[in-house]
Amino acid sequence: MAADASAIHAEIVAIGAELLTPFKQDTNSLFLTEELNLLGVKVAFKDVVGDDRTHLTNVARVAVERSGIIIFMGGLGPTEDDLTRECVADALGIEVHPDPEIITELYKRFASRRIVMPENNARQAHVLDGAKVLANSRGTAPGQWLDTRFNGEPRYIMLLPGPPHELKPMFMEQCVPRLREALPEAHFARRVLKLAMLGESYVDSIAAPIYNKRTEVQTTILASAAEVQLHLTSSAASRQEAQCRVDSLADELDAAFGPSIFSTEGEPLEEIVGLYLGMRGMTVSVAESCTGGMIGERLTAVPGSSRWFMGGAIVYSNQMKVTLAGVSAKLIEQFGAVSDSVARALAEGIRARCGTHIGIGVTGIAGPAGGSAEKPVGLVYVAVADERGTEVMERQFLGDRQRVRLGASQQALDMVRRRLLA
Ligand code: AMP
Ligand code: MG
Repeated sequence: MAADASAIHAEIVAIGAELLTPFKQDTNSLFLTEELNLLGVKVAFKDVVGDDRTHLTNVARVAVERSGIIIFMGGLGPTEDDLTRECVADALGIEVHPDPEIITELYKRFASRRIVMPENNARQAHVLDGAKVLANSRGTAPGQWLDTRFNGEPRYIMLLPGPPHELKPMFMEQCVPRLREALPEAHFARRVLKLAMLGESYVDSIAAPIYNKRTEVQTTILASAAEVQLHLTSSAASRQEAQCRVDSLADELDAAFGPSIFSTEGEPLEEIVGLYLGMRGMTVSVAESCTGGMIGERLTAVPGSSRWFMGGAIVYSNQMKVTLAGVSAKLIEQFGAVSDSVARALAEGIRARCGTHIGIGVTGIAGPAGGSAEKPVGLVYVAVADERGTEVMERQFLGDRQRVRLGASQQALDMVRRRLLA
């Protein structure tokens, strides 16, 4: 087997005091991780550190010791708290020097705006000894690329600006080609399998015995409201080999779960539903109470949805259930708005009024108030009607209002999907 790029791992260091507050998240590292993975490189560490000289130098020292590829981002501005250049130099035991070209560029930039350049802007011209300057076409702070050695081992170090619209093009245009050249040829393949309406531990109890036998593929399990995802990744010397590894594990898992897997390429549930509707030339409409339009919103987010999504109504009050979906007031009085019968009447009523092949009806108690011993918060009835009849599911969702609503929309879409499979 040829050398594997996964032998060298990456570390991402996000720098900025704002990233340690509840108001700002380090999103750049998600982008960078995706792109590094596509190069066959695993990210082993991510650090977030404030604009503090001691802390940043310590983090940089540790990163330089343990990681072959290190991306520092943020803290490249002109102010006193932009310390990245100096701290990384300290950690590596090297110096920074002023780069005359950057200084000239900065002077020109300020002159063109007819303002005098403040003295501290010259900090932005400090370049690590041995580093290449990465031009920043979208901002003033240039980046840096340093190909060096530490304790005899290769180190690829990048300093990138924090703003995402500056970092992304700089990384793609100026770092990816350099990394490609530096790293041994490696290819990365990924498959994402998605399951609806099953619990994470149940999914794992079936999946783990299968993926644990396949150590050449990394499998991670992610759970969110009413959805479990299995991410399969592998890197190998050839694209074909990497793809073959993940494909064969994906096939095995697909067979084990059967129709519970709604996507084997990472598509969202609404896209799969749209695909099936389109293939069958069928249309759908919705009468949504507790989901308040969420199902319609999810379906219309799919490009081309006008071919199969006709519309429907948000029937939040009892009156609207009667007026817009044709549910009988008596039925609501007899069984209550949150009931099997009303869900059924909503699906059938909206289907008839919209003239669609399929009608969806949803009614439930999203909470936090409005529950009772008989009808607790999280109780939802979802109905799907078509020419063959109407199916109603009663579900008891756990969690807050948003989770209940998401669960209900997921249940409805999954029922439609399963109908279209049959
Ligand atoms: P800086 O390069 O430190 O001046 O960062 C400038 C701005 O970029 C910050 O105020 C943030 O809005 C944004 N930023 C910095 N680091 C990140 C990051 N890791 N993820 C997303 N945005 C960031
Ligand atoms: Mg900053």
